[in-house]
Formats: sequence, C-alpha cells, structure tokens
Amino acid sequence: MSNHRPAQPNTHYDVIIIGAGASGLYCALTAGRRGRRVLVLDHANKAGKKILMSGGGRCNFTNYFVEPEHFIGTNPHFCKSALSRYPSWEFIGLVEAHKIPYHEREHGQLFCDDSAQDILQMLLDECTAAGVQVRLSTQIESVRTLDNDKNARFELVTTKQLSKKEKQARKEANNQTKLPQTNYCCDSLVVATGGLSIPTMGASGLGYELAQQFGHTLIATDASLVPFTFTDKTGELIRALAGISLPVIASNERISFKLPLLFTHRGLSGPSMLQLSNYWYSGEAIEINLLPETDIIELLLTHKKTHPKQLIRTVLSESTHNALPKKLLTTLQTMLWEDVKDTELANIKDERLIEIGSTINSWQLKPSGTEGYRTAEVTRGGIKTDDVSSKTMESKCQDGLYFIGEVLDVTGWLGGYNFQWAWASGFVCGEVV
Ligand SMILES: Cc1cc2nc3c(=O)[nH]c(=O)nc-3n(C[C@H](O)[C@H](O)[C@H](O)COP(=O)(O)OP(=O)(O)OC[C@H]3O[C@@H](n4cnc5c(N)ncnc54)[C@H](O)[C@@H]3O)c2cc1C
Repeated sequence: MSNHRPAQPNTHYDVIIIGAGASGLYCALTAGRRGRRVLVLDHANKAGKKILMSGGGRCNFTNYFVEPEHFIGTNPHFCKSALSRYPSWEFIGLVEAHKIPYHEREHGQLFCDDSAQDILQMLLDECTAAGVQVRLSTQIESVRTLDNDKNARFELVTTKQLSKKEKQARKEANNQTKLPQTNYCCDSLVVATGGLSIPTMGASGLGYELAQQFGHTLIATDASLVPFTFTDKTGELIRALAGISLPVIASNERISFKLPLLFTHRGLSGPSMLQLSNYWYSGEAIEINLLPETDIIELLLTHKKTHPKQLIRTVLSESTHNALPKKLLTTLQTMLWEDVKDTELANIKDERLIEIGSTINSWQLKPSGTEGYRTAEVTRGGIKTDDVSSKTMESKCQDGLYFIGEVLDVTGWLGGYNFQWAWASGFVCGEVV
C-alpha cells in the first residue's frame, strides 16, 4: 500500500509503535503484512524482555480455554471483541508454523518445550518478513500532533537512550551537550508500553503519560499477579514454613481459586495467591482452606465419638484426604491447640474442636501488602477502556492514536491470558492502522 504513496522522508512511517514487547511486535507484524510502513521504537536495548523471562523462561504463551471471565477491568465487556476475533488457536497456528515445540500443562496452559526465546524469535522473524523496522535504545522525548500537515498526524522527538555506562562516562567528562535528536512522523501512533511491573526490564509510565496528554482517564494502577507479604506474628509463622507447598482453596468475597499455595521467606505465593492478588485490595482479608477435601469440624467431632483416645494431630495426619505437611501441622498445633496438644479428643470441648476445624478450613489472614511491582507479573488498572474502541483499540479522544496490551485497564488471570490479550489487542489494531 505504502508503495503507491508519494515518497516520504525516511523518518516518515505509516505506523509508529512505541514498545517492542508482546503487543507491540504482534501489532507491527500484522500491520507490516498489510503493506504498512511500520517502525517500532523501544527505549530498552533488547526487544521483548518480558517475553524472555515469562513462564519461568518457557513462556506460557496462551491458553486453550480463553473466556472474557479470565480478565478483569472496570469494563468487563471491553476485551470480548478482540478476544473473539483473535482466538488462541490463531497464535497456536503461528507457533506450529514456526515448528516451535510446546506442551500443555494443567488448566489448558501452553508453554514452550525449550525456551521463551523461540516465541520472541518467531515474532522478530515475522516482523522482518513483513518489513517492520525495530529501533531499540530510543528515548521518546515528546509526542505532538501535526495539525497542518497533510502527510502525517504525529511527530515524535527521540534521542538515543544511553546505557548506564554511557551516562556515567558523560557525567565524568562533565559533558552537558544535548544529545542529537531524531524526529519521526506517522499517521497512526500505537502505544504498547505495557505496565509498571519489573522496572528493571524497561517498564515505564510513558503510556499513561501519553494517554493523559491526549485527554484519557486512568484507572488507579497496582501490582497484580504478585505474592502477598505479612508482618507481625503471621509473617514469622509463614516464614518458618518457607518451602512448603500444598493444594488449597484461596478466596475472598469476590472469587475463589483451588490451586497450590507456597510459603516463602517473604510471604505467601504460588498460583492460588497470585490469582487472588488480581482481586485483592489493600487492607482486605483473604481466606485459605488448608484442607479443601476434608470438613475438619466433622472429622474431629466424628473421631471424638469413634476414637475418643486419639489426639488432634493424629487425626489430622492420618485421616485427612491430603495429609497436611508435617511441619505445617506442627506449626498449626503451636498456633491453635498448644494447650491441648496431648489431650485426648474425649476431653476437648466440642466448641474448641469446631474452632480449630474452622480455622483450618477457613484461615483468615490480612496481608500487610504485596511484593509490589518488583516481582509482579502484571499491572492492574491502566488506561480507562471507555475512551478506547474495543474493535480497533483507537482512542476516542484523538484520531490515529491507539493503545494495546497491558497499558489498558485489562488484566488477565495467570495462565497465558495476559499474552493472549497482548496478541489479540495487537492484532485487531494491526488490522486497521
Ligand atoms: C516475570 C513475568 C512473567 C510473566 N509470565 C507470563 C506468562 O507466562 N504468560 C502470560 O500470559 N503473561 C506473562 N507475563 C505478563 C506478560 O509478560 C505481559 O502481560 C505482556 O508482556 C504485556 O505485553 P505488552 O506488549 O503490553 O507489554 P510488554 O511486553 O511489557 O512490552 C512493553 C514494551 O514497552 C517498552 N517501553 C516501556 N516504556 C517505554 C518508554 N518510555 N519508551 C520506549 N519504550 C518503552 C518496554 O521496554 C517493553 O519492551 C509475565 C510477566 C512477568 C513480569
């Protein structure tokens, strides 16, 4: 298409995408395949850093079962159109076409057999084949609209993003000269800068700043898919159990997840906690059922009648469906029934057994917080979706401006859903820019 247009200076593009991450690269290759002249700019020195670190290095790139219910956001309907137009089998098809070996894990999650690098390389190869240019280590200084220009709608002023070493060298040489600027123009500008998690991987708030510059509203952001932290006695207790993992039901008033829990030196982690963190707000309590397959109250009261001489710990270690790890049982004993630890069931009041049973089946905990953006997999909140077209991702405040991926107020569950959102939103945008 661009071949039929009058020649433009080489800093003019049909489409400029800020962010060479998951959504940005997918949008680029989609638009490039349509013959659009596409430039991707990123301040990082490498494209797709989060892809590389995802899924423990194996990239959980999508899920067999993608439903709008797997996403949260102020407008839960916003994600539906893109997800239905770009289902997960489209991405799986691309992975298979590139002969990337992959496997399914529980709950339909798809991972690379070898390395997340395979997914990144696939995206970069597709971009190259579609004629997309990717320019890294580029700092975006400013973005403005060109009101009187017939050929372009936006102008971007950029400089070279200096490495730490280069910055230090300039400082030592007391070099205060301005860095040379490169200006780019484009008709469509796509903001694909992602969220705030893992700042060391290139995360920045530029996408939110640009959205505000063009009149968009932001939904408060927070670290999500992130472990919980605890202070005081609970924190001590949890730390003492570091390394223990068990299947639990973790819930709050909004949602419930039956998944593994992991005690760590910093707090509570594992899939159940990460999932719950998407639905948790500061100051709220969470509930953990440590033995979801067993009604402990019923178990203890029945054993009091049938085996009155047994101790609580014996019942819990021998009669439960999935016995509690020994160390956890000992800790629970110290916490809940230290005074009656050597007392036979017959001599423990029913009310006490009910209290103990109810704590094990619904342990109420109040996290002091989360590990924050430092370790969070995603950012909850972001650009309010009411002001963005759900069909094209175009801004309703500024023609030609688009937002895709995690920068929007769309947050997926753990399990490949965040990448599926990145591919789907990148695709529908790449089809129209
Ligand atoms: C440790 C970890 C593991 C994860 N594992 C999974 C997983 O297995 N499955 C899954 O579905 N999701 C996973 N995620 C989430 C997933 O990585 C993100 O949701 C997804 O990458 C979002 O895509 P995006 O394109 O919106 O943003 P990103 O992929 O984060 O890309 C944003 C890009 O914008 C660039 N950028 C930011 N600011 C600027 C700026 N000022 N100037 C220029 N460029 C800028 C960044 O350098 C980056 O390249 C994981 C996340 C983390 C942190």
